[in-house]
Amino acid sequence: MNTTTDPNLKSWIESANAPECDFPIQNLPYGLFSRSGDDTRRIGIAIGDRVLDCRALVELGHLDGHCSPEARCALSSHRLNEFLGLGREEWRAVRERVSSLLRSDMPESLKDSADQHDACLVAQADVTLHLPMEIGDYTDFYASLHHATNVGSMFRPDNPLLPNWKNLPVGYHGRSSSVVVSGTPMVRPSGQTVSADGEETSFGPVRLLDYELEVTFVVGPGNPMGRRIPIEEAREHLFGLMLMNDWSARDVQKWEYQPLGPFNAKNFGTTLSPWIVTLDALEPFMVPGPRRGEDDPTNLDYLTWADDFGVDLNLTVEISSEGMREQGIDPTLVSRGNYADMYWTMSQMLAHHTSTGCPLRPGDIYASGTVSGETEDSRGCLLERTWRGQHPITLGDGTERKFLQDGDEVIINGWCEREGARRIGFGACSGVVAPALEPVAT
Ligand code: MN
Repeated sequence: MNTTTDPNLKSWIESANAPECDFPIQNLPYGLFSRSGDDTRRIGIAIGDRVLDCRALVELGHLDGHCSPEARCALSSHRLNEFLGLGREEWRAVRERVSSLLRSDMPESLKDSADQHDACLVAQADVTLHLPMEIGDYTDFYASLHHATNVGSMFRPDNPLLPNWKNLPVGYHGRSSSVVVSGTPMVRPSGQTVSADGEETSFGPVRLLDYELEVTFVVGPGNPMGRRIPIEEAREHLFGLMLMNDWSARDVQKWEYQPLGPFNAKNFGTTLSPWIVTLDALEPFMVPGPRRGEDDPTNLDYLTWADDFGVDLNLTVEISSEGMREQGIDPTLVSRGNYADMYWTMSQMLAHHTSTGCPLRPGDIYASGTVSGETEDSRGCLLERTWRGQHPITLGDGTERKFLQDGDEVIINGWCEREGARRIGFGACSGVVAPALEPVAT
């Protein structure tokens, strides 16, 4: 039984008990941080407005007798990959121990010794956050029926959904080299596009820059080449979830995508939120996997699991222009969605990805694809939200947007709340669009 999500738990770190806090004791998400003036990267766990330093915790002996030597070693690393590789039992042992160390009713030296307190806890305001793991491979799926239907109907009005779509989770292999942590500016890329009549090609800064609201999944132990991960074992291989902005150049995409799918339209940058919210923390918010429509094809066995699940995860996208930030105007809410609306589940995507024997390694990620719901305000990218620019949205400063302009900040937030559970949040995934640069040879 998972007692770490008990809504009655309180922490002796007071900021964690504030009702709107993203990081109460029930959450305990993992990140990677460095302290100001020190480049060393350390694994941390967010609690209230603090970060718990895992290496300090190990060095002070707080995990002795509770977690394996391998787990203690992995938590002292400069990246999360080794810990991800250890698997679910080790993850849970650490979570249970950390939860009890931070609990208000557990008298522990960590709480009472000022020295230990200072060694193990640092203010989030005083740290720099990095991507928690080195990402070997990144795959992006296309799992929302609403998104696939909307986008398909713009390009193929008579035939929006291709015949494969309800039979397998469609995806493409993305670029891990350009995945960055929240807060990193996103430089407007340049690319090749074609004129509306299809007559003339040109190269220059892209004009139709977009965001995509997505959720990404962090892989744990993974599989050796030639072995697949059965769908029933998905939980053993999935460590947690992050928020993602899959920045997209629509004018480039439109010209290049046939016949092999997106390439330069997607490879210039992808932003992740800094914290990984674990599946153990998300347990109270799990919902049954989506029901298929009556006319939908039956899933093949390798994509079928009676206990499959989604997550009731609320998602928002806000945009703030440079002018709005200067004038102190709040960001404008432009999309509001829920991850539970997706057609394909994270377990199905994992089983399908590895069904050929393709190995996944600790720290690999794969993403959901744009999260769009049925209603207009739940469409997860500007392409859909403005219907290719036909219906611009108005920001808080009165300016209109069909697509993103330089200086625009895109802010994605996610949180889970439910009757009988403590609300938990993900922390923002944000980035500001910077003006295009002339690429320089290196
Ligand atoms: Mn995408």
